[in-house]
Amino acid sequence: MKLTTVGFWGAFPRANEATSCYLVQDEDTRIVLDCGSGALSRLQNYVQLNELDAVFISHTHADHIADIYCLEYAMLVQRQLGNRKTPLDVYIYTDELRTLPFTFPEALNIQQLHVTDRIQVGSLSVTFSENVHDIPCCSMKVTNRTGQTLVYSGDTGYTDTLIQFAKGVDVLLIECSLYMKQQGLIKGHLASNEVGKIAQQANVKHVVLTHFPHYGHLNRLREEVRLFYKKKITYAKEGLTITL
Ligand SMILES: [Zn+2]
Ligand SMILES: [Zn+2]
Repeated sequence: MKLTTVGFWGAFPRANEATSCYLVQDEDTRIVLDCGSGALSRLQNYVQLNELDAVFISHTHADHIADIYCLEYAMLVQRQLGNRKTPLDVYIYTDELRTLPFTFPEALNIQQLHVTDRIQVGSLSVTFSENVHDIPCCSMKVTNRTGQTLVYSGDTGYTDTLIQFAKGVDVLLIECSLYMKQQGLIKGHLASNEVGKIAQQANVKHVVLTHFPHYGHLNRLREEVRLFYKKKITYAKEGLTITL
C-alpha cells in the first residue's frame, strides 16, 4: 500500500500547494482521502483522475472538501468524452448531505458515510471513527489485503477514541494544527504535544504530521511531538510517498 501526501496545509493553501488531500494506492485500487483547496490541480501530478476508484471526505470544512466540486466537473467531462462509464463514488461524513451543492449525479455518486460503515473498494477496506470537531468529522482507517494499516485523523480535538482507533497502525497521518503553547486555544484541533501523546499511547509505528499552521516554525512541531513519541516522525509535503 502506498500513501502520497498531496495537500497538507490547514485552512488555506500556500502558493502552488494544497490543503488536505491524500492518495492511497494498493494493487490496482486508488482512493483519495479529502479533497481540499488546490488539491485537484496537485493530485494530477500523481494519478489520472479517471483512474480514481473512490473519494472519502472526513467533513465539509472547505479545506477538506473545496475541490470536490471541481472534481465533479472533471468527471462530468470524462463521462461526456466516453472515457468513464460510471460516476465516481464519493463518501462524505456529514449530516447535511442534501444541502451540499452537487449538480451532476452522472459525474459523482454521492453517498453519506456513517462511522459504523466498512467500505470495500477493490483491495482496500475503509473504516471510520467519530472525531471531536465543531461539525461532524471522522477519522479513517485504510487496511489492505495483507494487513497493512493507515489511519488518517481528519480534524479533531484530543480524544481517546482516536487512540483506540489507531492502536498499533503502521502509519498515523495526523493533523498537527497548533504548537504546544497553544493547546486548547482552538477547539477541535490538536496541539503538537497532544499528537505526541496520541501516537505514544496508540503505539503506532510511524507518525506523519499534516494540516499545518501558517505561522511559527514548523520544525518546532516535530520537536514537541518528539517529547512524547520516540518512533519515526515525518512531515507531510507535496509528493511525499510512503510505502506500507
Ligand atoms: Zn481542516
Ligand atoms: Zn475542520
